[in-house]
Order: sequence, then C-alpha cells, then structure tokens
Amino acid sequence: MVPVYSARRILVTGGAGFLGSHLCERLLAAGHEVLCVDNFYTGRRANVAHLLDDPRFELMRHDITFPLYVEVDQIYNLACPASPVHYQFDPVQTTKVSVHGAINMLGLAKRRKARILQASTSEVYGDPEVHPQSEDYRGNVNPIGPRACYDEGKRCAETLFFDYHRQHGLEIKVARIFNTYGPRMHPNDGRVVSNFVVQALLGRPLTVYGDGSQTRSFCYVDDLIEGLVRLMESPSDITGPINLGNPQEFTILELAELVRELTGSRSEIVFRPLPQDDPVRRCPDITRARTLLGWEPRTPLREGLERTIAWFDRLLAGREGERLAKEGMAS
Ligand code: NAD
Ligand code: UDP
Repeated sequence: MVPVYSARRILVTGGAGFLGSHLCERLLAAGHEVLCVDNFYTGRRANVAHLLDDPRFELMRHDITFPLYVEVDQIYNLACPASPVHYQFDPVQTTKVSVHGAINMLGLAKRRKARILQASTSEVYGDPEVHPQSEDYRGNVNPIGPRACYDEGKRCAETLFFDYHRQHGLEIKVARIFNTYGPRMHPNDGRVVSNFVVQALLGRPLTVYGDGSQTRSFCYVDDLIEGLVRLMESPSDITGPINLGNPQEFTILELAELVRELTGSRSEIVFRPLPQDDPVRRCPDITRARTLLGWEPRTPLREGLERTIAWFDRLLAGREGERLAKEGMAS
C-alpha cells in the first residue's frame, strides 16, 4: 500500500458493532491504524474477523463505562446498543454507557488532545412535533418512558461534549444519526429492516407494529460512514450537531411491502401493538450536512435493501440460519 503521511491511530468504540465494523474497515482502507474497543454486548467478533490479520488493526475487549488509557489521535465514540429491544433490556446500563462512557472517552480525548466524534441520534428529537427535523429543534422526549434511557442518555452525552468543548477547548464533532441499515446488522437486532428481511427470507410473517403508518427515513450504511468521516475531517469550527440520514421518508407498511417484493417472499404481513412512545414521524433536514460537508446519501432504499437482502441470504444459508430456524427468531 502507498504510505499515507497523515495516517493516524484512531480509536473506534463499539467497533465490533454494525456501524463500527464498517467504520473500522473504511479507516483502515484510508491508511490509518485502528484500535477497536468493544465489550461485545451487541457487537460480534465475526463483524471484524476479516480485519484481524491486518497489523494496523487491534481489537480490545473493554467496557467503556470504565476508564481507558490508550494512545490515540482521534476517537469515534459509537459504543452503545442502538436497537430499542437491546437498549431497553438493561436500561440502567444504557444510560451508563451513554453518560459514563462519554465522560471516559472525553477524558481520554482531553489527555491526548484528540479530536472526538460522538455518534448521537435522531432519538434526541423524541416523538418530534416539527417536521422534518433540523438541528435547532430541541425535541419532544418523554424523560420517564421506556426509550428515555437511550434518548436522555444521548442528550446528556451531547451536553457533555459541548461542555468539554467550552470548558477545555476540546475539538468535538456531534453527528445525529437517523435510521441506518445494511449488511452486518445482527439478525436478532430487533430493528425494523433486519426484522423484516430475516422474516421474509425465513418465510415468516412480517411484524408491523401499529398500523404501519408511522414513518422512518432509511440511510444505507456506506453513505452514513462517508458522512461520519467527512464530519470528523471537517474544519475544527464545525462541531455539529449535524443530522446524518436519508431525507426520503417511508411508512413502515411501505417498507414491509418493498421487502416482500425484493425477497420474492410470500410471507403475510401481521399487525402487532405499537410500542410505547414510538415516534410517529421521523425525517432529517440535512441542509447543514449538504452545506458544511458537501454530503448527502447516494443509495436509494431499493438498492440498499437489495444489498442487505443478499447479505442476510448468505448469512441465513449458513449456521446462523439453522440456529435461527431452531429458535423461531423474528416470528
Ligand atoms: P450496534 O448495537 O451494532 O453497535 C454498538 C456497539 O457498541 C456493539 O458492538 C456493542 O457491543 C458495543 N458496546 C455497547 N456497550 C458497550 C460498552 N459499555 N463498552 C464497549 N462497547 C460497547 O449498533 P449500531 O447500529 O452500530 O450503532 C452504533 C452507534 O451509532 C450507537 O452509539 C448508536 O446509538 C448510534 N446510532 C445508530 C443508528 C443506526 O440506525 N444504526 C442510529 C442512530 C444512532
Ligand atoms: N417496527 C415494526 N416491526 C418490527 C420492528 C420495528 O413495525 O418488527 C417499527 C417500530 O415500531 C418503529 C419502526 O419500525 O415504528 C422503526 O423501528 P426500529 O426499532 O428499527 O427503530 P426506531 O426508529 O424506532 O428506533
């Protein structure tokens, strides 16, 4: 490989997860050294197994709610379960990883004078009353509901990032990520795209919560990673928050129908109760990302879904498929 003179040693927390593994890959391809830190709560060694032979890649098992002393030049803080099913399983731990984890990573960034990026979320807007959501909208979060551990945890992390920036002059970047999908989502992830694709491929009913009229805007993983890297590499006065997501909005029922069409599945669509505080509409205003980063998503939903379906198809053809068939997953 041609040497890259601006090569850095970059920490990716949550690097064995869905987004983190794609980010590690992307940073290695750009010539950097990557330290991937993960406690494998929702992430998997398999997601980064193909990187382990690269001498510039290091995998460390560590829970970021505990301090970490490593020598790095940049930090992407992604560690946190992202699916409602997983972040609500142990809500206290979710708040801890969001808040204590952020404090630990900010402390590390301060000691190392490292630039740090926070993977924040569209969930900071809660069930939004403003549409589409721009970054100056302050949100409508229920602070005592079942989603609060994640929403409020991420809001507090944003507060900490901006306080470290004002108080200690830290170089920060805050990305508000909207629903992202693609290969390496965990088949038991519980999020809507992986659920529908796995259900359709296994010939099981597609579980639409509520009447399916709620909307989401789905961003393909490669587009999202490009946005994260552009934000990290942007001039230091660009702190964010910046929305990163696809502004094309779909109802959940439209998504179910599209997945059925693309998989050629005969699965029926069944309706299940809508979870409490499930946001009714969600769609990013990405004017800031377009203007400041020259970024916008390129992959249409149909194309991204085709790639995602092909990946799950291969996964399910192997041992994972046998296991899921036995467990009756996603039914
Ligand atoms: P994911 O669950 O696949 O990845 C999260 C990773 O963090 C996993 O590898 C998990 O094992 C690890 N982790 C959890 N707790 C940890 C801890 N205490 N210490 C170390 N590692 C820990 O989820 P994802 O979709 O890849 O999300 C990554 C980040 O992006 C999260 O912070 C999430 O909040 C944010 N985000 C994702 C989306 C999305 O649609 N994918 C949307 C908004 C925000
Ligand atoms: N959803 C659904 N069926 C599923 C999983 C999710 O209808 O099997 C709905 C969920 O109620 C929500 C939307 O799909 O309205 C997106 O859910 P997801 O968990 O993917 O992410 P969220 O945006 O809610 O964090």
